[in-house]
Amino acid sequence: MGGDNPIRIQSMTTIDTMDTEGSIEQSIRMIEAGCEYVRITAPSIKEAQNLEAIRKGLKIRGYTAPLIADIHFTPNAAELAARLVQKVRINPGNYADKKRFEQIDYTDSAYAAELDRIRDKFTPLVKICKEYGTAMRIGTNHGSLSDRIMSRYGDTPLGMVESALEFLRICEDLDYYNIVLSMKSSNPQVMVQAYRLLVLKLDEEEFQPYPLHLGVTEAGDGEDGRIKSSVGIGTLLEDGLGDTIRVSLTEEPEAEVPVAQALASRYERTRENHDPIPEITTYPVNPFAYTRRSTREVVNIGGHQVPRVMADFSAKDKVTAASLFALGYHYSVPLDKWNITDMACDYVFLGDSVAEFDIPGTLGMVYNHKTWLTQKDKPRTYPFINHKDYRMMPARSEALNFVYACLKDLDSQLIAMLNADPTAVLVIDTYNAHGMAEQRRLFVELINNKCDVPVIIGRAYSNLTAEQLQLYAATDMGGLLLDGLGDGLFIAAENCGGDKVVNETAFNILQATRTRISKTEYISCPSCGRTLFDLQETTAKIRSRTNHLKGIKIGIMGCIVNGPGEMADADYGYVGSGPGRITLYRGKDVVKRNVPSVQAVDALIGLIREDGVWIEPN
Ligand code: SF4
Repeated sequence: MGGDNPIRIQSMTTIDTMDTEGSIEQSIRMIEAGCEYVRITAPSIKEAQNLEAIRKGLKIRGYTAPLIADIHFTPNAAELAARLVQKVRINPGNYADKKRFEQIDYTDSAYAAELDRIRDKFTPLVKICKEYGTAMRIGTNHGSLSDRIMSRYGDTPLGMVESALEFLRICEDLDYYNIVLSMKSSNPQVMVQAYRLLVLKLDEEEFQPYPLHLGVTEAGDGEDGRIKSSVGIGTLLEDGLGDTIRVSLTEEPEAEVPVAQALASRYERTRENHDPIPEITTYPVNPFAYTRRSTREVVNIGGHQVPRVMADFSAKDKVTAASLFALGYHYSVPLDKWNITDMACDYVFLGDSVAEFDIPGTLGMVYNHKTWLTQKDKPRTYPFINHKDYRMMPARSEALNFVYACLKDLDSQLIAMLNADPTAVLVIDTYNAHGMAEQRRLFVELINNKCDVPVIIGRAYSNLTAEQLQLYAATDMGGLLLDGLGDGLFIAAENCGGDKVVNETAFNILQATRTRISKTEYISCPSCGRTLFDLQETTAKIRSRTNHLKGIKIGIMGCIVNGPGEMADADYGYVGSGPGRITLYRGKDVVKRNVPSVQAVDALIGLIREDGVWIEPN
C-alpha cells in the first residue's frame, strides 16, 4: 500500500468474529469480489484470539489476503491481535480513553500528563507491532473523539487530526513507521477537510508522508450510500490523496467492493497527459473550511438560493407533460394539476424541441438561442447561448440567460461581459480527462477576477450504468460543491440509466454535500461483529416509515459501544443496546432505554411526533 502501488480496496466482515466458519466464508466472498484486505472486529481478547483460527482457515483454503483487527477500547485485544494478523486498526479516540461526554478544562501540565498516560498505554502495542512487522492504522473517527480532544479542539477537523498526531508522535519516537492514517466522518465535508488538514500537518511538522485510508462512515445504503461515499472519497482521490479505500454501506460487505473498485479504477490510468490546466498562483478557496462562493442572485439561481438542478432533454424529439414525470413533476389529467415532488428539477434544457403544454409553475424551460427566439413570449422560458454567440450581443432574455463556456473560453472579454450582465448565469463544461480540476481552475479564475456570476456545473456522461453515473458525477461535481463552488448542477447523460436516475443523482449529490436537503438522511452503520440486530432489514423498515420527513437525520447504529458517538449529528438515534433491545436518542441524549425491538420503530416515530416534527405521509 502507498507509494506507487494501486489504490487498495478493503472491506470489513459483519459476522460475529467468534463464528469462525462464518467469518472465513464471508471473508472468502469478500476476497473473491476483489477485496484486498479484510478487516474483522476484535472487541475483546477472545475475538482477537479467534483471528488466528480465521487466518489459518483462510490459508488452508488458499486465501492469503492480509487481515486487519479492528480495535475499540481494548488495548489487550490489540496487543494480542498484533501478534496474529498483518495489521491492527486502533481508534485514537477510544484506545486509552472512555467517553463520558465531559467538557474538561485542562491546564497545559494536566494535558501533558494525559499524553504521558496515553504513551504508557500505547507503547506496548507499538513495540509488538515493531517486533512482529505488523502494520497499524491510526483511524480517527469524527464521531468518537475523546473528551480530551473535544475539550481542547472541539468537534473539528483540527481535533480529528490532533487526535491521530498524538498517537503518531509516540510511534515515531519509537521508530515505528509502518502506519496508515484515516480521518473518517459521516459528513463528507468534515471528512474531506480533515484529510486535507492532516496532509498539511504531516508536511508542516515533518512527519513521514504516510499512506491514507479513505472512507465515509455510516454512509447508509443504496444510491444514497454510494453517492455520499463518492462525494467524500472521490473528492480526495481527485486531490491526489488516498492509498486504500473502504466504502461503508449498510449492505453485505462484498457489495462494497465493486463500488470501491469503480471509484479507484478512474485513477488506474495516469492522467499525466491530460489537457494542460494553467497553474494557480493565488488559490482563493479555503480547502479546510466551507464558504460558499459569493454570487449575485439571478431569478432563483445564486446568492442565497439553494443550488438548482437543470435536466437535459435536448436529445428528445418530443417532450410532453408525461415526460416530466421522471423529473419529479407528476401531471394528473383528471385534476389538470401538477404534483411537484421534493426532487422536481428547476430547469429543463430542451435544445430545439418545443414544449407544447402548460409547464408547472416552478419549472423553467431553456432552449437553444435560435429556438428560444420563437418561444420567448412564453412564461419562464430562457435562452442557452454559447459564449461565442453571447459575445455578439444577440437578443437576450430580460430575466435570465444561460451562457455556456469551458475554461479555455474564459478570457477577460467574457468575464467583463458576464460581470456587467445581471441576467447571466454561466453553465460550465469540460472535455479534460482531469475535469474536476479544470472546472475548479475555472472557479479560481472567476474569483480572482472578482466575477460574481452564478455558475451551473455541467458534466456530460455517456454509456454508463446507473451506478457508475452516480459514482462519477458525485466525485466530479460533489468535490466542487464541498468547496462552496457551484450554484447548480446540469448532468447531460446519454444512455446512463434513464432520466429519473439522472435527475435523482443530481439531487442526491446536493443532499450528500448538504447544499440542498430534499429528503430524510439516514446515518446507518455498515454493521460488524458487534451488531445487535439485522441492520439492513431495520434500516429498510425505518426508511419505509420515515422517508417523507425532509431534512431530518436519523442514525441507525448496530451497537451502543460505538453507535452513539458515530452517529454524529443525527437528530434521532436508533441504537442496539442488547439482544432484542434498542435505545433511542434525541441528538446525543438517551430518551428511551432498552425498548423491545418489536416496538422500537413505533417508539421512534412516537418520539418524532412528540417533538412536533412528524408529518403524515401523503
Ligand atoms: S456502530 Fe455498527 S459498525 Fe460500528 S461498531 Fe457498532 S455495530 Fe459495528
